[in-house]
Amino acid sequence: MLRLDKFLCEMKTGTRSQVKALVKKGAVTVNGITAKSPEQKIDENSDCICVNGSEVSYRKYVYFMLHKPAGYVSATRDNHDKTVLDLMRAQKNPLLDRELFPVGRLDKDTEGLLLITDDGELAHRLLSPSRHVPKTYYVEIDGCLSEDQQMSLRQGVDIGEKQRQTDGTQEYIPEKTRPAGLTQAAQDEFCSDRAESAWLLTITEGKFHQVKRMMQAVGRNVVYLKRLSMGELRLDEKLARGEFRELTKDEAENLM
Ligand code: URA
Repeated sequence: MLRLDKFLCEMKTGTRSQVKALVKKGAVTVNGITAKSPEQKIDENSDCICVNGSEVSYRKYVYFMLHKPAGYVSATRDNHDKTVLDLMRAQKNPLLDRELFPVGRLDKDTEGLLLITDDGELAHRLLSPSRHVPKTYYVEIDGCLSEDQQMSLRQGVDIGEKQRQTDGTQEYIPEKTRPAGLTQAAQDEFCSDRAESAWLLTITEGKFHQVKRMMQAVGRNVVYLKRLSMGELRLDEKLARGEFRELTKDEAENLM
């Protein structure tokens, strides 16, 4: 049970005084009956609360699927670049007035599925290295992959790099990727005219620039990258670049 004014404030209907004013002018109903007091107790899970005739449904957390376009950084704020949240908040929607953040990162030039939420626990679980949540990418590269290169990518490649040590010297630190899924993608799906071949790559880790570094490890460069899925969640093909929608109940439950 919650106070009506607290519920409406949490659901970003307005500030405490705006909500009070709405109740005072009779704009708020609880199960079809005009609310008399902002202090009235409501059951956020079963009562039907309407403001000016529109239902305000309770959400403890919100979950959005964004089809991230290239050119935006996966951050909540940035001094130089537009962020995915700047992109989403160009639309006026009270559900976006929350402490939202992207779950994991896609590079600025990567497109595709990005989950945006205010549920820190879920994000933590999905990103936890020990859970090995699979992520599938559509990858276009600047050449073909031989059988040997394909096998290396499937078995795991070394994407290690030289790192500066405290004494100023550089040391090569190896970093082997876990086994990955790799299948050829259809020719007619090509998004970049610089691409010579396209692949579906499924990885179960989230190392920095992992897909690009994996391809570099076998001598190829990524020319286009798009995330198609994360765990059970698949990018909705109906979403154009830059569009987003709330997850359905089933999609959200399957992520938990
Ligand atoms: N791997 C990359 O190299 N870049 C991404 O954006 C995601 C995975």
